Amino acid sequence: MQIDFRASASASASAKESRMVDNFLSSLSDTDLLIETKAAIKIEREATAVVVRFFKEINDRELYLKHACSSLFQFATEKLGYCAASAQARINAMRMIQVLPEVEAKIESGALSLTAVSKVQTFLNLEKKENRTYSIEERREILDACVSKSTREVERELAKRNPNILKIETMKPVGHDRFQVSFSISEETEVKMKKLRALFAHANPNISLEQLFEKLVELGLEKFDPARKAERTQKRVEKNISHSSKMSFADKNSEPGKLGALTGIEDSEIDLDRSFRAHEMKRSRYVASSVRHQVWSRNQNQGCEFVSEMGELCGSQLALQIDHVEGFALGGSNQADNLRVLCAKHNRFLWKSQFRA
Ligand SMILES: [Zn+2]
Repeated sequence: MQIDFRASASASASAKESRMVDNFLSSLSDTDLLIETKAAIKIEREATAVVVRFFKEINDRELYLKHACSSLFQFATEKLGYCAASAQARINAMRMIQVLPEVEAKIESGALSLTAVSKVQTFLNLEKKENRTYSIEERREILDACVSKSTREVERELAKRNPNILKIETMKPVGHDRFQVSFSISEETEVKMKKLRALFAHANPNISLEQLFEKLVELGLEKFDPARKAERTQKRVEKNISHSSKMSFADKNSEPGKLGALTGIEDSEIDLDRSFRAHEMKRSRYVASSVRHQVWSRNQNQGCEFVSEMGELCGSQLALQIDHVEGFALGGSNQADNLRVLCAKHNRFLWKSQFRA
C-alpha cells in the first residue's frame, strides 16, 4: 500500500488515484502521518542523489552543448524545467561529489542536505575567486562540520571561516518585471561611486543607486557591445556616402584622405569593400571590421547562433565570438555568409566535433 500510494502521488496520477491518496492521508493518525512523511522524504533524497549522478553523466558528455545550451545550468533550467536555485544546488552537489565521492552517500542518507553541500561548494567557489584553495582534507573537514546542520547553522559555520561569505551576490526576481540585486562593495569602490554620483549631480542631483547602475550598464554596453559598434559604423558609413556624393559634385579632384580628414572618418572606413577585398587576397585569417560589423548587425542581439540537430537555438550571450562556418584552414572565406556568431562553448564544441567526425 505504501509504495503504491507514493507512486500515485505523482503529478501524472489520475483524479481517481489522487482522491485515493487524499483519503489515505486523511485516514492516517498524526503519528503515522509523520512516519509516512519521513519515508517519502527518504525516497526524495535517494531520487535527488540519482539526479545528481545523471547530471554528472550529462556534464561528462557535454550533452547540453548538443542541445544548444552553453552550460549545464542553462540546460537544467531551460530543458529540464528546474528553477535557478534548484538547478544550481544539484550542479554544486555534482561538483562536490566529483572531488569527494563519499558525499553522494551522505546526501542519500540525509546526513548532509543538498542545500548544505551546495552552500559549501558556493563557499569554495567564492574562496577560489579570492585565490584561497582548499585541500581535499580541508573540504572534508568543512563538510563534516556541516553534518546534520540546518541551512542557518551551515551558513554560520561557513561565516566562521570567512565572514564575507554571507555577502554573496544575488539577483532574484521581485514582481514580474523587476529584479533585486545585492552585493557588497569595497570602501575604495564606495568612494569612487560617490564621486561618480557627484559628477551626475548637474543633470540629476538626486540620482538613485538604480539610476546610477542603469547609466553604468548603458555606458558599458555602448563601449563593448559589438552589435552597437556595428550599428554606429553603419551610420557613419551611410553619412560618409552621403557626404562623398555631395563632394563629388563640389570637387572631383579631391585628394585621397581629404574626405576622411573633413568628416573625421578614416579612409579605411570610407572604402570598406576595397579594404575587405585586400584582406581576402592576402588569405588572411583576419576578418575586416566592416564584415565583422555586418555579422553582428545580422545577429540582432540574438546571441549564439548554434542550432542543434533538433532545431534548438542556443541564444547564449556568453563570450560571443565570430566563427567561420566552413573552417578557414579548409578554404572557408572571410565573407559574411561564411561567418556566424557563437558562444565560446559552442565554438569549442564545433571545433572539437571536426576531429570526432
Ligand atoms: Zn552557444
